[in-house]
Amino acid sequence: MAQIIAERGDIDFVLYEQFQADELTRHPRYNSFNKKTFDLIVNEARNLAIQEILPTFAEGDREGARYENGQVKVPACYHRPYRLMREGEWTAMTADPEFGGQGLPLCIAQAASEYLVGANYAFTLYAYVGHAAGELIEFYGTEKQKKLFLKKMYSGQWCGTMQLTEPQAGSDVGAITTVAVKNPDGTYSLSGNKTFITAGDHDLTENIIHPVLARIEGAPEGTKGISLFIVPKIWVNDDGSLGEPNDIVCSGIESKMGIHGSATCSMTLGGKGKCRGWLLGEENKGLRVMFHMMNNARLAVGIIGFTSASAAYLHALDYARQRLQGKDLEEFFNPDAPQVPIIRHPDVRRMLLWMKAHVEGMRSLIYYVGIAFDKRACAASDEEREYYQGLIDLLTPLVKSYCSDRGFEVCVEAMQVYGGYGYMRDYPIEQLLRDCKITSIYEGTNGIQAMDLLARKLGMKKGEVFVNYLAEMQKTVAEAKKIPGLQDLAAKLQAAINRLGEVAMHMGQTALSPGLRVAFAFAKPFLDVIGDVSLAWMLLWRASIALPRLEKLAGGLDKTVRQQKSAQNKQIAFYEGQIQTANYFINAVLPVAMGRMEAIASSDASIVEIPEASFGA
Ligand SMILES: Cc1cc2nc3c(=O)[nH]c(=O)nc-3n(C[C@H](O)[C@H](O)[C@H](O)COP(=O)(O)OP(=O)(O)OC[C@H]3O[C@@H](n4cnc5c(N)ncnc54)[C@H](O)[C@@H]3O)c2cc1C
Repeated sequence: MAQIIAERGDIDFVLYEQFQADELTRHPRYNSFNKKTFDLIVNEARNLAIQEILPTFAEGDREGARYENGQVKVPACYHRPYRLMREGEWTAMTADPEFGGQGLPLCIAQAASEYLVGANYAFTLYAYVGHAAGELIEFYGTEKQKKLFLKKMYSGQWCGTMQLTEPQAGSDVGAITTVAVKNPDGTYSLSGNKTFITAGDHDLTENIIHPVLARIEGAPEGTKGISLFIVPKIWVNDDGSLGEPNDIVCSGIESKMGIHGSATCSMTLGGKGKCRGWLLGEENKGLRVMFHMMNNARLAVGIIGFTSASAAYLHALDYARQRLQGKDLEEFFNPDAPQVPIIRHPDVRRMLLWMKAHVEGMRSLIYYVGIAFDKRACAASDEEREYYQGLIDLLTPLVKSYCSDRGFEVCVEAMQVYGGYGYMRDYPIEQLLRDCKITSIYEGTNGIQAMDLLARKLGMKKGEVFVNYLAEMQKTVAEAKKIPGLQDLAAKLQAAINRLGEVAMHMGQTALSPGLRVAFAFAKPFLDVIGDVSLAWMLLWRASIALPRLEKLAGGLDKTVRQQKSAQNKQIAFYEGQIQTANYFINAVLPVAMGRMEAIASSDASIVEIPEASFGA
């Protein structure tokens, strides 16, 4: 398999040319880094990913996680890269160095993760979840809890999980029935069953720390009565030493479509009446605490959708350049014409450009959110902090849902480029596609993300956050309008932003009217068009950086000269690619989103009015 995960040139373009990530190093929080160290970190991540993680991609899939004699075993090939992830301190890149992290800006951790996650995310799930769970303890735990758990979880010595789902409580977390009873020593005894728990058990680490949602006996019904507990696989004594095995056991793992190396576990808590845990945060306020982890996990899942797409696109591109099939369209009737690489066929180029536009647009959108985190961390005032927090809150469901859906669609298109070979296990696409599918389902299905966006995020601060987001887009439009060659694209994006504002207003009003159900019937298409307009924005932004540089490098903007020079100069080819990609997306994809906006604005009620019986047998 070719060693293709992500395009470094594009990562650097986004980090430094689009978002000036190096400017973060002026802030005291990040001034121990400079651009050189950022580059070194991303290089190291790339080396580790290619040399040690990528080889486990297919092997881990074939072997899969196994459940043997009541124990879960990860694929044997996962053990070495897990050790190397720990040794290289890749398990908690953004965490405070005081607790064993690297203190990196999120955007640089994202760049490193493009490689580490993109190489085999079924594996990296194990390596990252300890940090994700540990953050709950860092932000909501007692000093004693921090002392007992943090360093070991951040360093990957101990792994973590997140335990929400129960058979009767999937999207409806408020329906959980796992019970907690307070003991005289301040601990709680838990009993219940959890299902579909990623990394619920395995043999990579000596201990696993489970954050578990449960209801304290007598607590209110629904989400208001949910508390969060830290439940270790092996009990942790007050001095940090390991005690007895706790009564939280894996009763089996799922046989599933993809991510075969990732153990998806059914968990029994208190089967012998001896499962103990500590309360994390306050009683009945557990869901609020868990949301910290869920929001980060939602972004991470969107990133997984994107990294799957990035790898799938690069593989398809590589294949399209090599696979000879058919003649050039203009030589169709020439019996002596040679076969050409399939990248010469307009239909294949259409698929490739659609993939490229989505991959690059998603990369920019994801790093935009990463930079918002970093700017929030460096904010000089509460006002500034709140501004970035608003953007993060608004964009979390968008990144989760849009990037997982489009990421999967890119994988589907990549398989199409491969033809029949893409369907075969000899090539990586079928696995990328299988592994990617779950991203639209877990961490809150994409339908639930769309409801969150409409019900909670659109109206934040009376709509001010959404208006701010549109205003961010307008800034790019205003800049692009000044650049000859981009004015037409800027005008088209301007029209789309204006229409999106109107449609958002319509959705907000409908959601508050008796037409509430109709509004929610269109919540997902609404999220999708916000995503499409956001991508158009990101691609115009890229083009507005690229065009002046292209003009300088190519010695003018003559199209023929640019095309010729692109064949000889990689940098010219890259910038030319930015212009063509923005042209394509804004002229050929954005109009589809405009059409979708018309459909949303029509508020057609068929979806809610069709009688259940009329759906058919
Ligand atoms: C491989 C894998 C790993 C997982 N890992 C974890 C984990 O580590 N920890 C954990 O706690 N969970 C985990 N999950 C569970 C996952 O988060 C749930 O499967 C998911 O939240 C959906 O719940 P459900 O499967 O019960 O589907 P349901 O909730 O039954 O949903 C079915 C459909 O109905 C829709 N729906 C449901 N309610 C509504 C509503 N109110 N309005 C509109 N539409 C609705 C959904 O969008 C979906 O399309 C994992 C699942 C899988 C498959």
